[in-house]
Amino acid sequence: MSTTVLVINCGSSSIKYALVSERREDRIFGLAENLGSVEARIKGITVGGEPLELSIPHADHEKALETILSRLSQYNPQAIGHRVVHGGSLTKAERLTPEIIQRIREATPLAPLHNPAHLVGIEATMRLFPELPQVAVFDTAFHQTMPAHAYRYAVPKFLYTDHNVRRYGFHGTSHAYVSERGSELAGSLKQGGWLTAHLGNGSSTCAIWNGESVDTSMGLTPLEGLVMGTRSGDVDPSLHTFLASNLGWDIYKIDKMLNSQSGLLGLSGLSNDMRTLIEASEQGNEDATLAIEVFCYRLAKSLAALSCGLPRLDGLFFTGGIGENSAYIREKTLSYLPHFGFNFSKEKNDSLKRGTEGRIDNGTGPQIWVVPTDEEGRIAKETSAVVESELGATPAKKSELETAIA
Ligand code: AMP
Repeated sequence: MSTTVLVINCGSSSIKYALVSERREDRIFGLAENLGSVEARIKGITVGGEPLELSIPHADHEKALETILSRLSQYNPQAIGHRVVHGGSLTKAERLTPEIIQRIREATPLAPLHNPAHLVGIEATMRLFPELPQVAVFDTAFHQTMPAHAYRYAVPKFLYTDHNVRRYGFHGTSHAYVSERGSELAGSLKQGGWLTAHLGNGSSTCAIWNGESVDTSMGLTPLEGLVMGTRSGDVDPSLHTFLASNLGWDIYKIDKMLNSQSGLLGLSGLSNDMRTLIEASEQGNEDATLAIEVFCYRLAKSLAALSCGLPRLDGLFFTGGIGENSAYIREKTLSYLPHFGFNFSKEKNDSLKRGTEGRIDNGTGPQIWVVPTDEEGRIAKETSAVVESELGATPAKKSELETAIA
């Protein structure tokens, strides 16, 4: 990757950013938060590794982006890569054009919390930096290779044909990066069958065959699948009817409960943060202990289910804040998969330095690796690939990019 890319992830009141160049060590990153309020500020790390904190009272997305870019312009970013949660039926990263922006807008009913915030950021950067090539990289795109038997729900066909009701899957940039990097570490270069477990505040699993997603745990929205920080994951769909008929809850209250008050937080009544729960469990808190157990059991169940999508299982990759850092959760999850033939090494698992790559099996059976994810790096790589392929393919666009670089 020879292009320096500014990666942007716009939320409703925050913007995460990272300036990604060839060397991972040179990365500059930060977060603009509390946008629109008097407490709006930018917190980050400068190129020298120094902490940065800048107050930008009442700044909106556009003002924050202008401030971020003006501080980074000395590093000459040559393209902007936007993380977009839902790309609908788009299958790969796309250069932002009015048509692609419209496709992102059309996917809004499928990601009502995320896509509108991404669009605010996209429109602001297009206005502010019209000369920079901009690319959207979708969380859903990696999963567009799933076969119909994995992505269709067993509901009437018209809901799929007329209303796009199907399983999409998310965390695609993470599953793509981790499976590619992991299979490289394992010496199989994208070949074979792998399972990935992305375990963070949001969590999902994925089955990958020869580098392509063949199934994943999230569905129409990021609520399906595993137990997460505040999301329930799978519940009986009749729970909605039960709550409506017996407690008089409306659909919005139920949705809020399942997305924001459930998962680890709901089960423990204490926290959505796995570290807090492990500490509480060590001190004898039974609800925290149960929350951890449900998390690990349901994760193991999901991995077992997804393995049906693979002709052969070569191994498993753990990633995300929990997957990268918690030897305890990895061990507990694997204890529910004794029939997989994993030859788990407790010693290697316990001694793996937090946040580093490493193999945690004894060298026979399917491999088990910890692979720290790099979503920003993957978004930058895909952005760079789109921009560089256009440079090669369309001479007319060459001058546009060259002007931007100059
Ligand atoms: P992420 O969303 O990927 O940043 O991951 C956030 C989650 O990772 C939170 O639940 C944290 O508690 C969890 N986490 C981070 N470090 C550890 C750790 N050492 N042990 C257990 N969980 C951790």
